[in-house]
Amino acid sequence: MTDQFKIKLKELAGKEIGRVTFDEPLSSHNSWKIGGLADLFVEPDNSSQIAEVLRFVLANEIPLVVIGQGTNLLFDDAGVRGVVLKIGERMALVQISANTIIAGGGTWVPQLSRISMQAGLSGLEHCIGIPGTIGGLVMMNGGSQRKGIGESVVNVTIVDRRGQLQQLTQAECDFSYRRSALQGIGCVIVSVELNCPAGDVKKIRQEMLADLQVRREKFPRKQPNCGSVFLSTSEMHSTVGPPGKIIEDVGLKGLRVGQAEISQQHANFIVNLGGASSTDVLGLIARIRQIVQDKIGFDLCCEVRYVSPQGEIFPAHLKADELGRSGK
Ligand SMILES: Cc1cc2nc3c(=O)[nH]c(=O)nc-3n(C[C@H](O)[C@H](O)[C@H](O)COP(=O)(O)OP(=O)(O)OC[C@H]3O[C@@H](n4cnc5c(N)ncnc54)[C@H](O)[C@@H]3O)c2cc1C
Repeated sequence: MTDQFKIKLKELAGKEIGRVTFDEPLSSHNSWKIGGLADLFVEPDNSSQIAEVLRFVLANEIPLVVIGQGTNLLFDDAGVRGVVLKIGERMALVQISANTIIAGGGTWVPQLSRISMQAGLSGLEHCIGIPGTIGGLVMMNGGSQRKGIGESVVNVTIVDRRGQLQQLTQAECDFSYRRSALQGIGCVIVSVELNCPAGDVKKIRQEMLADLQVRREKFPRKQPNCGSVFLSTSEMHSTVGPPGKIIEDVGLKGLRVGQAEISQQHANFIVNLGGASSTDVLGLIARIRQIVQDKIGFDLCCEVRYVSPQGEIFPAHLKADELGRSGK
């Protein structure tokens, strides 16, 4: 880090931007428990503080990474040379009026689903077991049972990369399978308005309990992981089948690279056996892709996103391929 860069980060840290820490271990902020240090880690309390950070990093060309609970991210062992902005419990206010729920970007999704159920509002049953924030879920258009949160979104309030507050409608977010127009534009999701039709509390509760039961049986619970590593599209289901089944069928369950292992329980999960590095996970992703390509001629793509030390975020298989080619 140059002296000039250090001075700039200190200048930013001295502003009213919420809680700040230098050299924060990113392994404490993602569900894989992997990653080096972030030069500056910021947890803002409101959209004005977010705007302050965004304007400063843009003006000073400082890399910025926005995260929620880090349940879909693989940080590099070298960490992030710049600012990591975490939207979490400090921005998690939930308001309900008739069929409308407005949730702060940092709201914990299982908690939000429970609140909606208690209010007799349906539509979030499929989200009860997803361990992230609503900001992360909307960014990824995540969901389960072939659904995406985008179906319930009315509008999303963001701070754009220039620090301006904006509201985007559902149509403008252009949701599709695990994608949204919000990806890659450098915005921060501040809050989300959802439309949830009235439903029967007992029925909603039963659906949620059933979903949690399936997850308890299918997914590894004790070892750190990042959920499904590879994308599972409906097109895949009708041709080659879901990624977990493909990986299991080619005999890869239990395959290890370093301390990263394909889960014995569910083959689309990679678990950290203790002290796994990002290189271990990327090496394992590269081997899975290679073997699946050789045996069944299919290119598996990652749902999990890799965060580079320069602050870029992209599907992890692109980084795995890069390391594979350079023989690392
Ligand atoms: C055990 C387990 C089960 C899972 N099951 C599912 C599942 O069933 N369905 C599913 O879709 N996913 C699932 N996931 C993946 C993950 O939980 C979701 O993608 C979740 O929505 C990510 O939320 P997050 O807050 O952790 O986001 P992060 O992982 O922190 O970030 C994900 C992306 O969103 C961006 N982002 C996060 N917050 C903001 C914000 N406020 N503003 C702008 N950008 C933001 C990040 O830059 C990144 O690109 C699972 C993960 C685990 C560990």
